[in-house]
Amino acid sequence: MVNSIRPTVLVVESSNSNREVICECIEQLNDVEVLSAQSGVQALQIYEAKHPCLVLMEIALHDMDGLALTKEIRRRENSSDQFRPWTAVIFLSSLQDEEVLAKGILSGGDDFLFKPVSEVVLLAKVRAMLRIVAMQQAIYRQHLQLREASILDGLTAIPNRRHFDETLSTEWKRCARAGSPISAILADVDFFKQFNDIYGHQAGDACLKAVANALNESLFRVEDMAARYGGEEFVIVLPGTDLEGAFAVAERMRTAIRELNIPHERGLAGLISCSFGVACMTPSPDNAAKDLIQEADNGLYSAKRSGRNRVCIPPA
Ligand code: GH3
Ligand code: MG
Ligand code: MG
Repeated sequence: MVNSIRPTVLVVESSNSNREVICECIEQLNDVEVLSAQSGVQALQIYEAKHPCLVLMEIALHDMDGLALTKEIRRRENSSDQFRPWTAVIFLSSLQDEEVLAKGILSGGDDFLFKPVSEVVLLAKVRAMLRIVAMQQAIYRQHLQLREASILDGLTAIPNRRHFDETLSTEWKRCARAGSPISAILADVDFFKQFNDIYGHQAGDACLKAVANALNESLFRVEDMAARYGGEEFVIVLPGTDLEGAFAVAERMRTAIRELNIPHERGLAGLISCSFGVACMTPSPDNAAKDLIQEADNGLYSAKRSGRNRVCIPPA
């Protein structure tokens, strides 16, 4: 979850009057949304709902110590399934104690202000911290873009070969532990060289995008994945699916490709089609993930040899 473009500052302070003074001060900054909480529990609720960029926190809250609250925020940042952007924390303390300051930084805080804080100092510190937060968010957005680019195929926007290999390896191990079967499907566009020759490379690219989309749309389970294996070949992994189930998925895909109705004058019945090879294994010490793909490839070879636009399992 990414913080909104408009920075959000959460003020956590038990005293109503102090909280109002601090909020009013920060509201002077243009384009900053100011939220407030009077307790640690309320602060955590707002943190979850709004993911503020910056938390200004009185260290001695009534219900929870500010250090514990900060540790909890850091824990949630790091344990979230989805990587969360960093939230800056500035402590406010009425106690002029360097030990407390040191503990605050150790618990995950980023800066410390002793009360009473002048308006000028408070605004300057908040401005400086929001500047760092903005830079961190820019890095975070780039991180997400790079991550996406590294796992998706540039043309079809479905997972690429490398991401597929990683997923297959993970799912293979998972199925090995569970003692469940795992299936793979290899799909190859029929007479695609001729399609490119007749209609041009751009039409070829558009066809590959449509095929990728149709394969993807034929999957119903979250753990299933269709990826571009290379060129006009696609690969699908179906963890926990037996041969019969995988065959049914491949047949659904074959029909979906035909129903795209992409004209191909040298294709079967004048339309684009795909051939499919399906294989299923239960992981054991005697086999490996690459054997599953090899078997699916053997099935694909049979499908090509026996006329294309069909689904085949490897010959016995
Ligand atoms: P078969 O029915 O036996 O599979 O024949 P085919 O023509 O599909 O197979 P072949 O392997 O001879 O040709 C594959 C073609 O796929 C060759 C290549 O130009 C084309 N191709 C591979 N990647 C891309 C791509 O990214 N875009 C386009 N437009 N064409 C591609
Ligand atoms: Mg091929
Ligand atoms: Mg082909």
